[in-house]
Amino acid sequence: RHLSVSDPLTGVFNRHLFNERFPQELERATRYGRPLCVIFCDIDHFKQINDRYGHAGGDMVLRQLSSTVSGGLRSDIDWLVRFGGEEFVLVLPETMLEAAVGMAERLRVRVSAEKIMLGEAGAITVTASFGVAQFVPDDTLETLLKRADAALYAAKAAGREHVRFWEVRHA
Ligand code: GH3
Ligand code: MG
Ligand code: MG
Repeated sequence: RHLSVSDPLTGVFNRHLFNERFPQELERATRYGRPLCVIFCDIDHFKQINDRYGHAGGDMVLRQLSSTVSGGLRSDIDWLVRFGGEEFVLVLPETMLEAAVGMAERLRVRVSAEKIMLGEAGAITVTASFGVAQFVPDDTLETLLKRADAALYAAKAAGREHVRFWEVRHA
């Protein structure tokens, strides 16, 4: 069971688990009107890290980043998923947008401060960009992730190593 829900490289949850469990979070937020946020986190210029330090170096960075981000979560509520190559999703139940943005901001700082040991290449640091969105009524998995992804895109466009959020305003 553990293997089927976790990513072999980093040990965090995999997309399979996300697809299985996220609908339950949506259901809970919808039915009980509870807050729910998601954060997209994507390593900046990761392709260059692979080019410079090799695929094994890149893998090391992915493992370290996962552990750094995991360490910044509220362990029994939040969950971290490796969504694609160097892209992660954080699911934050019971969390309003402002708090989620605050958490993304702390993670951004934490990631850039962390030294990653790459053997002979020595220690390097990496940065990541973050896009935050909060669940609103009638959201589906797709609409919510789309806003988080658009916010991530804005964080990249702002020069990377940024946090951006997408807020839905009611008339
Ligand atoms: P940006 O700042 O815009 O996010 O640029 P980027 O280089 O991080 O993004 P891009 O999507 O161009 O490159 C992602 C790279 O991640 C390309 C791919 O080879 C690498 N990658 C994907 N999965 C893995 C993996 O499991 N291990 C390693 N080492 N690299 C991976
Ligand atoms: Mg990237
Ligand atoms: Mg990416």
